[in-house]
Amino acid sequence: MALSTLRIVWLYPDLLSTYGDRGNLLVLAHRARARGIDVEPMQIRSDQHIPHTADMYLIGGGEDGPQAVAADRLLQDGALSRAAEAGKPILAICAGYQLLGSSFYANGRAYEGLNILDLRSDRGPSRAVGEIAGDSHPQLGIGPITGFENHGGRTHLGEAVQPLARVTAGVGNDGTTEGAWAGHVIGTYMHGPGLARNPRLADLLLGWAIGVDPAQLPPLDDTWPERLRSERFQALQAAAQ
Ligand code: GLN
Repeated sequence: MALSTLRIVWLYPDLLSTYGDRGNLLVLAHRARARGIDVEPMQIRSDQHIPHTADMYLIGGGEDGPQAVAADRLLQDGALSRAAEAGKPILAICAGYQLLGSSFYANGRAYEGLNILDLRSDRGPSRAVGEIAGDSHPQLGIGPITGFENHGGRTHLGEAVQPLARVTAGVGNDGTTEGAWAGHVIGTYMHGPGLARNPRLADLLLGWAIGVDPAQLPPLDDTWPERLRSERFQALQAAAQ
C-alpha cells in the first residue's frame, strides 16, 4: 500500500457531533486497520487549528446554531479549503455538507459557506426525517446507498458538482438527488452513520486517501453491514407498498 499511517481528522466534535456521525471515523479506522494500515485519528475542536498534514477530513451534522459557528471558524481557519484544493478526501454530513456550499440557512437567515462544493442550501417546506435510499452515481462504482436523514434544509446543485445519488426513497437534496460529489469531496445527508451502512463508500474514501483503486483493497467480511443495508431496503419497500 502507498501509505503506512492514515491520519484522519474528525472536525469540530464540540459543535458537529449531534447525530452520531463520529461512527464514520470508527468505520474508516476499522477498515483501514483490517488492511494493515495504521490509523491516527485526530479530533480537532473548533478552538484548534486544523492540521494540513492529514490524509482525510470528516465533518458531521449538527443543529443550526453550532452549524453557523462552525462555518465561521472554518472560514477563518482556511485549512479545509486548502485540503480540498490539494485533493484530500473530505466526507461531509448534513450540516457539514451544507456549509461546504456557497451559502446555507440556519436560524432563519442565510450564512456564507466555504465554497468548496458548487451548491447552495435553503429551507424546505418541512423537515425531512426518516430513511433515505438512492442509486449512487455510476462513476463512483459503489451501488445503492442507504441512510437516515434529519434536516430542514434543501440543497441546490451547481454545474461543477455531480449528485452522489438519485433518490429512490426519502428527500435528500430536493426529493430527486441526494448529496454531491466533486474531486475527492463527498457531501451527503446520510446519517446512520453513513459509512457503517455503506461500506463501499467507506472503501472509496479509503482508496482515495491512500492512492489505491478501491477495487484493489483486500475484501472484508461485510455480512453485518450488508444485512443492515438489505433490512433497511426491505423496510423501505414495505413502506412504499
Ligand atoms: N441544521 C441543518 C438543517 O436542519 C442540518 C441538520 C443536520 O445536520 N442534521 O438543515
